[in-house]
Amino acid sequence: DQLSNKIAAGEVVERPASVVKELVENAIDAHATVIEIEVEEAGLSKIRVMDNGDGIEKDDCINAFHRHATSKIKDENDLFRIQTLGFRGEALPSIASVSHIEMKTSTGDGPGTRMVLVGGQIQTHESYSSRKGTEIIVTNLFFNTPARLKYMKTVHTELGNISDIVNRLALAHPNISFKLSHNGKRLLYTNGQGDVRHVIAAIYGLSVAKKMVPIRIESLDFDINGYISYPEVTRASRNYISTIINGRFIKNYSIVNAILDGYHTLLPVGRYPIAVLVINMDPILVDVNVHPAKLEVRISKEKELYDLITKGIQDAFKKKQL
Ligand code: ADP
Ligand code: MG
Repeated sequence: DQLSNKIAAGEVVERPASVVKELVENAIDAHATVIEIEVEEAGLSKIRVMDNGDGIEKDDCINAFHRHATSKIKDENDLFRIQTLGFRGEALPSIASVSHIEMKTSTGDGPGTRMVLVGGQIQTHESYSSRKGTEIIVTNLFFNTPARLKYMKTVHTELGNISDIVNRLALAHPNISFKLSHNGKRLLYTNGQGDVRHVIAAIYGLSVAKKMVPIRIESLDFDINGYISYPEVTRASRNYISTIINGRFIKNYSIVNAILDGYHTLLPVGRYPIAVLVINMDPILVDVNVHPAKLEVRISKEKELYDLITKGIQDAFKKKQL
């Protein structure tokens, strides 16, 4: 019902950036290769996400806005080997409950569908001709939750959060072309050709991308790839360290500490590297089902991973010096 959707919204859609994250993750799960994100006034007046993914059948469109109606998990066992970014079936109903939504979608065969919802109530559900993929436009975010609206920070801060999230999704998915614009101004473009270094250049600039050491670590349990900046290219916060596990951007203290540990003797005090670590492992070894926003994960064999990363980074710098 709408009340529980609104309660869930409190957890899932904290701010405009969370809406962007959920919509883009859905596009990724739908196998999109091109994702365009347009926001206005840091998403408070408008968020538009377009993808060229699988689309949704007309009948399933209603379902997509029902709580816990995920098409991504079939049974309990799937919960322990999650391959998709979404799995709770909470995002669309939560977002819908606190905004106005227009969705146009098509699976590519037959006519597509257009839906309009206001505060979670379906206003329109009609056939509509559109190309394959899905376009979702969210306006009037938090129109019926004034307390939440009041809690929003400046446009600058909210936009920073959106930009951060899209950057990380782009780093995690170099095979997808991302476009992000704000009030008509282009903030990010990636070409979707699979090169992480290209994405690093798109986000941090070409001169940074040129000053990165490649990392490559393999063990029985982990396959790790990435880049870490030369000690002369550092930042004043840990926010420039991105960790991606099985295609999902995650936060994990142990991994960040392992990176810093490996880099340790090279770091000036109070400075942190720019780093991107892409870790692939058996999904059974990582538990993503910790928090609705799905950022924190629990990892089995955490100590083994820690040691691997620390050593891998030390080796990467040793190689560079040779
Ligand atoms: P979840 O991602 O956890 O399954 P959501 O509420 O985010 O739940 O989405 C509900 C369902 O709507 C998804 O399971 C999927 O079937 C469908 N869906 C949402 N967005 C898209 C999209 N961009 N393309 C195709 N299907 C989508
Ligand atoms: Mg989802």
